[in-house]
Amino acid sequence: MFEYNEDYMPLLKQVRETVEKVVKPRAKEIEESDEFPYDMIHRFFKEGYLQILIPKELGGTGRDITSLCIVSEEIAKVSASLSLLVIVQTVGTLPLLIAGNEAQKKECCPKISEEHLIMAFCLTEPQAGSDVGSIRMAAKRTRDHYLLEGKKSFVTNGGVADKYIVFAKTDPNRGRRGISAFVVDRSLEGMTFGSKDDKIGMRGIPSCTISFHQVLVSPRDLLGEEGDGFRIAMETLNRSRPAVGAQALGIAESAMEVATLFAMRRKQFGKPIAKLEGMQFMLAEMATMIESAKALVYKAAWYLDKGLPHATKYSAMCKYFASDVAMKVATDSVQILGGYGCLRGGNLERAMRDAKITQIYEGTNQIQRFVVAEQLIKEFLEKYGMGRDWSEFL
Ligand SMILES: Cc1cc2nc3c(=O)[nH]c(=O)nc-3n(C[C@H](O)[C@H](O)[C@H](O)COP(=O)(O)OP(=O)(O)OC[C@H]3O[C@@H](n4cnc5c(N)ncnc54)[C@H](O)[C@@H]3O)c2cc1C
Repeated sequence: MFEYNEDYMPLLKQVRETVEKVVKPRAKEIEESDEFPYDMIHRFFKEGYLQILIPKELGGTGRDITSLCIVSEEIAKVSASLSLLVIVQTVGTLPLLIAGNEAQKKECCPKISEEHLIMAFCLTEPQAGSDVGSIRMAAKRTRDHYLLEGKKSFVTNGGVADKYIVFAKTDPNRGRRGISAFVVDRSLEGMTFGSKDDKIGMRGIPSCTISFHQVLVSPRDLLGEEGDGFRIAMETLNRSRPAVGAQALGIAESAMEVATLFAMRRKQFGKPIAKLEGMQFMLAEMATMIESAKALVYKAAWYLDKGLPHATKYSAMCKYFASDVAMKVATDSVQILGGYGCLRGGNLERAMRDAKITQIYEGTNQIQRFVVAEQLIKEFLEKYGMGRDWSEFL
């Protein structure tokens, strides 16, 4: 059985209370209406979840990735959408924390907490998802400004966010090395928000396409140096992926709970189906996969918090493993409920739809496997170089 370090117990207790008092009563309504839950934004700011990684001296909660994962997992047990609220806010804040200069951090970070600013992260484009280096959005330098021109798609919080971290090419000839990151205020002229995507899951948290036409951005809003954008985006996702893993874990845990309780009650062939070997194998498999995913998610978070080597590998591993577990557990839970699992509007149907999305966003699970393999090769090269041959180990 997984146990949290003592230091995290007060946070765990706090978030469980929030979930009981605030998330549970609203979850179904948000799912059905697909309307952005502004009330939850204010509540989550009060609890410190939407500024969780911002240091205390900059007005934030000053907590770590492990804390973010705890919040994400606990909320996702009841509403994956509301846990996305926390994740996407963090993804929109991390570039500032990673690459912002002192002036940018002092200007923006305290405002996020005080004015309850909503953040968004704009990397994907209609023709460029996994292949980030092929983005086309241009940031052309003029005498006093950068001129943004192009389109971003699937921007979570698009239309409701106050600040957008926008990745654009300052040098179109340098591939990923030509990408730069900007903090863009929604009040700037030239931004047009498309209609809300009608998604299969994560209902209530909008995403949309945003068109940028001759948007003038001040050089003061460039994060880091020109050409740092790809690194900033990857470092951001590296830190936030365990939170997606934790979100997937929350989805899996609650689906498993429904399936187990059902299997204990439902009788066929004169006994509870939980006592039938075929069902027991499924339940055992689900529980084992969940425990493994949990260990991996919190290992990744711990490696990131401690700045240990190989954190990137664990971060990618836990994102793909936990989200694959969530998809499998949600689908198997429906199977265990039989016909009852096929009725629309229940928690399991929602779990299946939400779990699917966790396999896709923040880098698809194919891309995560690619990251893990690349990191492995790097590690082995560091350890053995190219001088050793596999036959020596036979
Ligand atoms: C609900 C939701 C919210 C999102 N929010 C945001 C957001 O806030 N900001 C943002 O910037 N983006 C966001 N995205 C976009 C998301 O990150 C992309 O959808 C994702 O990275 C995949 O890109 P794509 O959709 O263009 O698919 P593609 O990259 O076109 O991939 C299509 C398929 O090909 C596979 N594939 C691609 N390359 C390889 C490869 N080298 N090897 C093997 N298989 C490969 C993929 O795994 C996938 O199965 C969101 C997406 C969703 C669904």
